[in-house]
Amino acid sequence: MNQPDLTASVLTEALPYIQRWQDQVVVIKYGGNALAGAVGGEGERTALESFASDVVLLRSVGMRPVVVHGGGPQIGALLSRLGKDSRFVDGLRVTDAETLDVVRMVLLGQVNPDLVAAINVHGPLAVGLSGADTHLLRTQTADPALGFVGEVTEVNPTVVERLLEQRLIPVVATIGADELGQAYNVNADTAAGALAQALRAAKLIYLTDIDGLRRDVADPASLISRLTATELAEIVADGSIGAGMIPKVASCLQAVRGGVGQAHILDGRRPHALLLEVFTDAGVGTMVTPG
Ligand code: ADP
Ligand code: MG
Repeated sequence: MNQPDLTASVLTEALPYIQRWQDQVVVIKYGGNALAGAVGGEGERTALESFASDVVLLRSVGMRPVVVHGGGPQIGALLSRLGKDSRFVDGLRVTDAETLDVVRMVLLGQVNPDLVAAINVHGPLAVGLSGADTHLLRTQTADPALGFVGEVTEVNPTVVERLLEQRLIPVVATIGADELGQAYNVNADTAAGALAQALRAAKLIYLTDIDGLRRDVADPASLISRLTATELAEIVADGSIGAGMIPKVASCLQAVRGGVGQAHILDGRRPHALLLEVFTDAGVGTMVTPG
């Protein structure tokens, strides 16, 4: 196929998807690991620019994207510059008061404004928020052993809905707060799932640093392209899912059982993975459906 023919066929293939997802809310969790093609380096810039233009494209064809981001490697990098170790339990960062300060500095001072700025290169579209804004993510202590790690008790999505009504793109940093205004570090996977559920999103998409959910993390051939919530629950129960994948699959399960149309886990380091998932017949990564 020559170039114009190829362009025409790509656009034609996308048409039914553009129609299907018209006006639908899609919550996209952009992992710190997907962003960190190379932390702070050229990889990160390119990954960020390509992600931003994909999100703007989704919005421009009529979808309502909401971005929720993490910042694990970026937080880890600042902590190590400050001579502090990172410690994780089941994929959750143990967060003492000093670590909480660093988490807030990195998410609210660096990752969130970088994402907002990258999107706004394309027009006045993105608005940065944190979960502490207008009670968006109400939290309480998840487990005293984890320190200031917040468990989401309530989601108040009104501010996000208002921005979506205005065709703006909310970009949410996952810092939550309790009734007294105490800040908490909320795992971004958990927050994205809870927000998707509260918004009754059509899709929840996790962009991470692996091609999807694998039966055996070490074996690329064991990628699971599609499974139901019931099948996923069985895999979770048999204990073969580790580290950072645990909060992702738990939130996928909860979200699709709570009314989200479908959940996806994709490799966000792959250029335009988001577009391939949404607009092509091929589909990429892992898709979790209700049932
Ligand atoms: P993110 O920044 O996207 O949240 P994480 O490192 O927290 O990234 O989570 C992704 C990681 O989960 C993968 O890089 C992989 O090492 C790990 N993982 C553990 N078990 C599995 C599994 N069964 N399939 C895929 N990835 C897994
Ligand atoms: Mg993670």
